[in-house]
Amino acid sequence: MINERMYALGDAPNKIREIFAYGLDRKAEIGEDKVFDLSIGNPSVPSPPEIDRTIAELAANSDGTIHSYTPSPGLAWVRTAIADNLNARFGTSYGADNLYLTSGASSAIAICCMAIALPGEEVIANTPYFPEYRTWTENAGARCVEVPTRASDFQLDIDALGAAINEKTAAVIINSPNNPVGSIYSDENLEALAALLTERSREYGHDIYLISDEPYRELVYEGKPPAWVPDLYPATLVCYSWSKSFSLPGERIGYVLVPDTMPECERVYKAVCGGGRTLGYICDSTLFQTVIGTCVDAPVNIEPYARNRKLLCEGLDAIGYTYIEPQGAFYLWVKALEEDADAFCERAKDFELLLVPSTCFRAPGWVRIGYCASEETIKGALGAFEELYRSYQG
Ligand code: PLP
Repeated sequence: MINERMYALGDAPNKIREIFAYGLDRKAEIGEDKVFDLSIGNPSVPSPPEIDRTIAELAANSDGTIHSYTPSPGLAWVRTAIADNLNARFGTSYGADNLYLTSGASSAIAICCMAIALPGEEVIANTPYFPEYRTWTENAGARCVEVPTRASDFQLDIDALGAAINEKTAAVIINSPNNPVGSIYSDENLEALAALLTERSREYGHDIYLISDEPYRELVYEGKPPAWVPDLYPATLVCYSWSKSFSLPGERIGYVLVPDTMPECERVYKAVCGGGRTLGYICDSTLFQTVIGTCVDAPVNIEPYARNRKLLCEGLDAIGYTYIEPQGAFYLWVKALEEDADAFCERAKDFELLLVPSTCFRAPGWVRIGYCASEETIKGALGAFEELYRSYQG
């Protein structure tokens, strides 16, 4: 007998993938340059040159052991290199034993849910949010509770979180820089969250964990970079990947950091190891562990995204769209020109413009632009945005 819950998950349409697939078909039909696909979050900046160079050197000098199993949490020297990188940037004192390497941020978050949420407990996600949070929370047997971010600026709504948190709350998941909004939570916002979680953890007699999902940490254009969350709240699990910063989404490499300041750090780390074990993660790709261990300090190139962001903001301003000025990641959050975001995205297709409706992120009335695209696509898209706007002017 198949598991009906798994069947339902496998059968459920993935709207973003559907739009992306539509774009591929449409490009084959009318030409690559005639379709403005701003749907998927596939990085458009090439990986740092160090990455391919390292792969080539490793392949050239391979004695075959590069393909062996490693310890489940990953090679110790690689975890030490990552810890050193974090310590240099954030003034921390992490070591290999604080890191568990994972198959991207996705498995990092799924593992954390298994590690710290019990069946019947609740995990809070702030809408709009990366929709898989719900899948991973429910896989751990917990309930995903949605709390809208502030309508004015999409920062965390501390009052609403205060109302949602109760003795069954196991964790809150945050994501900054944010997908889909492109916002960065301010220090004050995060400090207020930390104060709330500290107070409630004390009141309920158990830690409420904070899962900080941060694959876009280095993609920051304006304002202060996001605060280092474990400095504000020790019971934070950091989930990271090089999918976006090094443009390596297909290579599946990331980590869970259990900071040394975490209460009962060793026990939480072991629970993370157990979470990985139950989900069947034996170890992450040995080749890519080695690549990251070698290249972890390589600079992140955000220039092409910064140029696209500027082009889009100026273009959308000139046309008259309402949007949230993105501070980070490579997404821009635009108000749909009608209440029904899905209908708006359907209409955008008439102008060969492919956008993701906010309903994919459990919120109404907005659309996500992914500006991880070529400059030509962005320029073409602005023409389409203008025609789309005019079509609503009657
Ligand atoms: N979290 C957020 C907010 C994302 O946008 C993504 C991917 O787009 C992920 C997690 C998953 O990233 P990964 O490719 O590292 O699994």
